[in-house]
Amino acid sequence: MNYKLIDRILALGNLISQARLAYIEADANLQVSSWNQGARDLFGYTEDDTMGCFLNELIPIRKNKLINCKQTQFLTCSQVNQNGQEVQCDIFYAPIMNTKGEKLGVAVLAKDISARLKDKANLKQQEQYLQDTFGFAPIGIYHVNMEGNIILANPEYAWMLGYESAKAVAEQISDFAVQTFFDKEKADEFMFGVYEAEEVVRFRCRLKRKDNSFVWALCYAKATHDESGRMDGFNGFSIDISETVRAEQALKKLNEKFKMLSVMDGLTQIPNRRRFDEYLESEWKRHSRDKVQLSVILSDIDFFKLYNDNYGHQAGDDCLQKVARAIQDSAHRSSDLAARYGGEEFVLVLPSTDKDGAMAVAEKVRKNVMNLEIAHEKSKVNGHITLSLGVATMVPGNDNSAQDLVALADQALYEAKDNGRNQSISKSIH
Ligand code: GH3
Ligand code: MG
Ligand code: MG
Repeated sequence: MNYKLIDRILALGNLISQARLAYIEADANLQVSSWNQGARDLFGYTEDDTMGCFLNELIPIRKNKLINCKQTQFLTCSQVNQNGQEVQCDIFYAPIMNTKGEKLGVAVLAKDISARLKDKANLKQQEQYLQDTFGFAPIGIYHVNMEGNIILANPEYAWMLGYESAKAVAEQISDFAVQTFFDKEKADEFMFGVYEAEEVVRFRCRLKRKDNSFVWALCYAKATHDESGRMDGFNGFSIDISETVRAEQALKKLNEKFKMLSVMDGLTQIPNRRRFDEYLESEWKRHSRDKVQLSVILSDIDFFKLYNDNYGHQAGDDCLQKVARAIQDSAHRSSDLAARYGGEEFVLVLPSTDKDGAMAVAEKVRKNVMNLEIAHEKSKVNGHITLSLGVATMVPGNDNSAQDLVALADQALYEAKDNGRNQSISKSIH
C-alpha cells in the first residue's frame, strides 16, 4: 500500500477521535499546541482554554518528567477534572522528534478508564456478596457435574449431610445419587428429572447423611449448561424439613387417634352409635346394589335398671363392658360390626347374612352373655345377666331404608321382651 503521509495522519486522527482518546501535543517548552475533543472530555478544558498553557499544569504529569522524556512512557493516574469529577486514566506520553533526532515537543495519548475500573469494582463486590450469601444461606446449595461429583457445596449443605465442612463434601462425594439419597428410587427419579427431562425438579425426599442416618429435605435442582449450550451438571438446593415432617407425622397420629376416638364408645371400647349409623348406611347401599340380604341384631340387657339399683352404677359399668366384649366376640366375620347402640343396648350389623344365619348369631350372643354368669339376683328371668334380642333381615331396595331395618329389629326385640325376655325373635322382609 502506498498511502500518503497526510492520509495516514488523517486516518489516525479519525481513529483517535472515534476511540474517544485524548490526544495532546505540546512544544519543547511544554506549551500546548493541540488539544482534541477527547482531551476536553477527559480533562474538562476546551481547546481555547489550553492553547499556550503549560501541559504540566493541565494533566497530572510532572514538568521534569515531560521535559526529560526520551521514549514512550505510561502511567495510570486518578485526577479530578475541571468539572469536579474524579477520573481514572491511562496516559501514554512520548517525545516528538524530527528526522535529525531533535526533540520538538511532547505527544500525549490518554484514555478514561473510570468505567472499566468501576465495572471491575462492582464485579468484585458482587462476587463477595455471592460468596457471603452462599456461605451464610440457611439452605444447602451445591453444584454437581456430569460425572456425579459434587464440586461445590456450602456449609449448610455439609451440616445437613453430617460432613465436617463444605470442602469435605466436595472431596468425599463422588457419586451424588448413591451417596446423598436414602431411597434409591427417589435418587433415580431425581436424576431422571434433572438429566433426562431437563426440568426443574422439586420434591421431598430423605437425604442420606454421612453416618447413614437420614434427614428429610425439600430438594430443588436445575441443569446448568456451558457456553456452547451443552449440559454440564446441575445446581441443587436442599432445605431441611425434618421439623415439619415430624410435626406432620405427630399431627397425623393425633388425627387418627381423634378419628378413632370419635367412633368408639368410651366405656365399652367397642364402636359407638355414630360408627354404627355410618357403617349401616354404607352396607345398606352396597347390599342394595348387590341385592343381598342384610341383617341387624338389636340386643338389650334384661332388667338392667334393677341391676344398677342393686349393685350400684360402677358394677353396672363393669357389667356393660363384659357384655360388650362377649357380643363382639360372638360375631366372627371381618365385615360384622358390633356397636353400643345406647345405654344397655347393643347392636350387630351382619352383612350378607340371611335370617337363619342372623338368628344363629343372635342365639350365640345370648348364650355367650348368659355364660358370663354375671350374678343378677333381682332379675325376674334368671339369676344371671341375660339379653333379649331382636333380629331383622332385609334385602335393601328402593322402597325401604336402613331405618326400616332397625325399626324391624326393634319390633322383634319388643316381642322378645314381651314374650318373657332372655330370648331371640327374628323378623324378615323379602
Ligand atoms: P328391660 O328388661 O325392659 O330392658 O328393663 P331395663 O331395666 O333393662 O330397662 P330400662 O330401660 O328401664 O333401664 C335401662 C337401664 O340401664 C337404665 C340405666 O340405669 C342403665 N344404664 C344405661 N346406660 C348405662 C351406663 O352407661 N352405665 C350404667 N351403669 N347403667 C346404664
Ligand atoms: Mg333398654
Ligand atoms: Mg334393658
